[in-house]
Amino acid sequence: MRRSICLGVLTLAGVFATIAVNDARQDRAALTAHRVADNLFMLANAPSVQGMGGGGNTAIFVMANGVALVDTKIKGYGQDILGGVRELTDKPITTIINTHTHWDHTGSNAEFPDTVDIVVHENTAANLRSDDCDDGAGFQGGSIKNCDSFKGDNARFLPDRTFSDTMTLFGGADQIDLFYFGRGHTDGDTFVVFREARTMHTGDMFARKGLPYLDVASSNGSATEFGKTLEKAAAGISGVDTVIPGHNPTPLTWQDFVDYGGFYNDVVMKTAQGKAAGRTVDQIIASYSVPGQFSDFVAADDRLRTTVQYLYDGQ
Ligand SMILES: [Zn+2]
Repeated sequence: MRRSICLGVLTLAGVFATIAVNDARQDRAALTAHRVADNLFMLANAPSVQGMGGGGNTAIFVMANGVALVDTKIKGYGQDILGGVRELTDKPITTIINTHTHWDHTGSNAEFPDTVDIVVHENTAANLRSDDCDDGAGFQGGSIKNCDSFKGDNARFLPDRTFSDTMTLFGGADQIDLFYFGRGHTDGDTFVVFREARTMHTGDMFARKGLPYLDVASSNGSATEFGKTLEKAAAGISGVDTVIPGHNPTPLTWQDFVDYGGFYNDVVMKTAQGKAAGRTVDQIIASYSVPGQFSDFVAADDRLRTTVQYLYDGQ
């Protein structure tokens, strides 16, 4: 598996680099494709862009009669995604699955034909219709207003289909299973499983190997539920080897995903123990260290503080 992932990068990175040069947009990061199966690709940002770059990782799934995408990055990246797809196949894009509502995962939905079938969890559909969404207005000089992307005439790009617990799309080699296990990063996070490729897109329930951003404020996410939702997903999903994370620049493994739950729930446990012992948030943070078994995971200071504070407050 590792070997095929590396080969995929070498083959397609050159292709996408050419697209970026032709595009002549100096402010844009070239997108890098990682091949995770014969017909499944993770379209990431340039390896050097660890932050937002073009937004979340997009999955490109080439099926018998069309292409399904998972997540559409930041507004303005539709042509970059389409260019990537066209290097792989002439088949039409028929389906977009958004893992959750955020602007860096749904931003280019409206840049694809309105005939494309958009599928999300029912709470994400509600969030996309909301006036109070996390719309990324603080990024790129406030130029991104994702809430406005689905208003007025653009309401036709709102989701066409929703689900509450599970949903299966397509069949045979094209089968995609969608799962919802509860609140976490938002209140509508979908785990997308490509059955034959034994691969799962986690969205921002596993963005990278570090503590999560928890959108408690505008999308009803929950620090206290986040760890439970990870555990339910690990117990309820089987047959996955490879994971496409929300933002990590490379694909990860099922074991990384399982370990992420362990890493997060260790913070949950230490916060509960500290609070029960009458300690403050500052004291809990000061005594925290990443357990040795999760040494490849990062607890950045700001993320640790917000996570512990939310847990402490029962949010
Ligand atoms: Zn997000």
